[in-house]
Amino acid sequence: MAFELPPLPYAYDALEPHIDTRTMEIHHGKHHNGYTTNLNNAIAGTPQENMGIEEILTTLSMDQAALRNNGGGYYNHNLFWESMHPQGGGIPQGALAEAINTSFGSFEGFKDAFAKAAATRFGSGWAWLCVHPGGKLEVCSSANQDNPLMPGIGCGGTPILGLDVWEHAYYLNYQNRRPDYIQAFFNVIHWDKVAERFANGQ
Ligand code: MN
Repeated sequence: MAFELPPLPYAYDALEPHIDTRTMEIHHGKHHNGYTTNLNNAIAGTPQENMGIEEILTTLSMDQAALRNNGGGYYNHNLFWESMHPQGGGIPQGALAEAINTSFGSFEGFKDAFAKAAATRFGSGWAWLCVHPGGKLEVCSSANQDNPLMPGIGCGGTPILGLDVWEHAYYLNYQNRRPDYIQAFFNVIHWDKVAERFANGQ
């Protein structure tokens, strides 16, 4: 059963002006599509062919470069598109808001930690908000297409929010201004979806 590129859950121009249309078209239609194709090529004829993506990521060996890079790329972008919404932004509510206050002191404390993780990831990678069993939250970052589900990343728990900080995610609109892109992301975060992942992941 081959993996398929899922359609974006909104139009390519829906996140304007925070994330521009051309970037979304290339990012989803070319980059994410490429990871999907290469993941299918990597698993063809292997025991991983019949696994779901989470099982692939949690059980792979980190020296399986094609599986690590393309399985990560497939999963990370699925999570990323769903982490955003044209009516997103604002602040989380309910149990997620309480967990953020417990783990980071305040929403501003979370925001600073997440923005710092995203800004200081050298080169290409991702910033994450993860939940541990029991509900504790952690902010971290990973290189390239790695993610917290993979063995030995040292960035614990289940990812519930992810931000792509590869230059392909922002360079057309923001050029070298990664911090501006990070701030713009906060205007489109789909907190209802993050809260759903929090409830399922803790
Ligand atoms: Mn990307």
